[in-house]
Amino acid sequence: MPLFLSQPLLRRFFFFSSPFSPPRRLHLAALSSSPASMPSGDSGDGIAKKGRLRGLVFDMDGTLTVPVIDFGAMYKAVLGEEGYAAYRAASASGGGVDILHHIEAWPPPAQQRAYEIIARFERQGLDRLQIMPGALELCRYLDSRQIRRGLITRNVKSAVDIFHQRFGMEFIPALSREFRPYKPDPAPLLHICSIWGVPPSQVMMIGDSLRDDVVCGKRAGAFTCLLDETGRYGSPHSYTDDTRPDFKVSSLSQVLSLLETQFDLMPPPQTT
Ligand SMILES: [Mg+2]
Repeated sequence: MPLFLSQPLLRRFFFFSSPFSPPRRLHLAALSSSPASMPSGDSGDGIAKKGRLRGLVFDMDGTLTVPVIDFGAMYKAVLGEEGYAAYRAASASGGGVDILHHIEAWPPPAQQRAYEIIARFERQGLDRLQIMPGALELCRYLDSRQIRRGLITRNVKSAVDIFHQRFGMEFIPALSREFRPYKPDPAPLLHICSIWGVPPSQVMMIGDSLRDDVVCGKRAGAFTCLLDETGRYGSPHSYTDDTRPDFKVSSLSQVLSLLETQFDLMPPPQTT
């Protein structure tokens, strides 16, 4: 069952602008959820317009790989019982703790211990690494259409290296935690756009985290697509403006349909 921006579907109105202009304004309005009214650009004169797309940037853990890291257990091990309880309370009230930023303020010995715990959980995740269903097919499709694909993760470079080996295809560029500042800061996405020579408005960020991936994409001025396999995020109507994605899918195979129906897929810009 396809597709897109949850229930009810949301319709996007595109305001096209020149490359490298500030992020375009989007207006979202509710539509009925029939397949025939899937979200498509509309200029207001009845002529549908599609977004232009030249590149996709993926999150890694939970997006290109099946989620296997127990983040709850990891946070608990890093923050301790009390700290974890405070984190849960903050999350429930819409706040939350960015654990990597949080650790940076700790004294070096505590910081070192925390990084070791995180690395242990990440190693366990790598041992059980599985490629997300639909990921290879999507990437082959992107290659066939000459659409660039990059990767941004808050995991470490060694994890990206192992992922590349097992995936058998490379994402270029692939930015890991060593690139600062990391998601949700838009810097890594803007960096990739700059390397590609493609405006953020012609790129889509795909990930399974509202707080990291969607916010990063929105701040950069890119299209955003939330992968929500289990429906844990509920309806986009409950999201804040900062976290509301342009699209929501429950599998990577739906991304392929989304690209086909919602975008003009553009070849790489000419280089001289
Ligand atoms: Mg993720």
